[in-house]
Amino acid sequence: MRVIVTGGAGFIGSALVRHLVLEKGYEILTIDALTYAGNEASLKAVEGKANHHFLRANIRDGAAMRAAVAEFRPDRIMHLAAESHVDRSITGAADFIQTNVVGTFTLLETAREYWNGLEGAAKAAFRFLHVSTDEVYGSLGEEGLFEETTSYDPSSPYSASKAASDHLAKAWQRTYGLPVVVSNCSNNYGPYHFPEKLIPLTILNALAGRELPVYGKGENVRDWLYVDDHARALDLIIERGRPGETYNVGGRNEHRNIEVVRRICAVLDELVPANRPREELIAFVTDRPGHDARYAIDATKLETELGWRARETFDTGIEKTVRWYLDNEWWWRPLRDRYDGERLGLTQAAK
Ligand code: NAD
Repeated sequence: MRVIVTGGAGFIGSALVRHLVLEKGYEILTIDALTYAGNEASLKAVEGKANHHFLRANIRDGAAMRAAVAEFRPDRIMHLAAESHVDRSITGAADFIQTNVVGTFTLLETAREYWNGLEGAAKAAFRFLHVSTDEVYGSLGEEGLFEETTSYDPSSPYSASKAASDHLAKAWQRTYGLPVVVSNCSNNYGPYHFPEKLIPLTILNALAGRELPVYGKGENVRDWLYVDDHARALDLIIERGRPGETYNVGGRNEHRNIEVVRRICAVLDELVPANRPREELIAFVTDRPGHDARYAIDATKLETELGWRARETFDTGIEKTVRWYLDNEWWWRPLRDRYDGERLGLTQAAK
């Protein structure tokens, strides 16, 4: 099996590449532009493996995409490359439109041209998986869950750009017959997560005895999924999902942000005792504009149709994640140092 993974040097992409290279033994071409969020160190586990190849290229570059596809001859394309941080989309949306919308369009066109040139069994077996987020559905009230049929209602420039790319992916399936499957997943967490996102930011700030910024009163609810569970879901969706269909992915792990931060503090206090409880470092900061109140996924279709189940609970996943950051300073220290003075996630957005 020959698979192109775009965005494979990112957080979820690198988990997927590790899974496909090490556990499945597939032949993988990772395509990544190595933006601030991409990091070759996240692919250290597959370094030197004969079945892993890396191409530094931008998905907006049609000529580079066509050349890569023509040379590698993939059976599948799994598209994860994106600008992914909501706060950055609020202060500068241009890259989000260029990569998430124009880049996805470029890749779909590349895939269409390549697929048109395939014949017989190879053409029938080809799949394109477009990986997206539950944020395209907007915000939920206290009740209810996002289903695959929920209307799109994105709030941020990030989610609007992902919604646009989802529509393009579905249109390429309906109009041209390109065998596209779409997945929409809830918030991921786990190893190799860039330290501007809530969970790694909290772990690293708490370790350093720094403030733990929490938006508003920390009441916003997210549905958390351990990244390796997502990687397995994506593998299953492209393997057995039906073209033209959407699959929601979520761990049935709803937590308010403040509970997540408290849980991390408790785990750290246990593993690395400090003079005072780390919860005392929590600082409530001005809320993000357009901050969605609650996201929660109904993953019934993925569970019943494809037999997927999350392996980690939130408690086991968070403990694994905290332990990983404690054991892997080599990975996060350079990123942390490089971006420390910069506007970094919640801390700086609040200033
Ligand atoms: P990430 O920001 O960690 O990684 C994105 C990767 O894409 C980086 O390696 C970056 O270098 C690369 N990239 C960015 N622009 C590119 C371009 N123009 N050309 C080539 N490569 C480019 O993001 P992530 O959290 O791993 O998310 C991966 C995908 O999953 C995204 O499409 C995102 O929308 C989706 N998603 C993320 C979450 C989450 O909780 N993180 C949840 C659901 C869906």
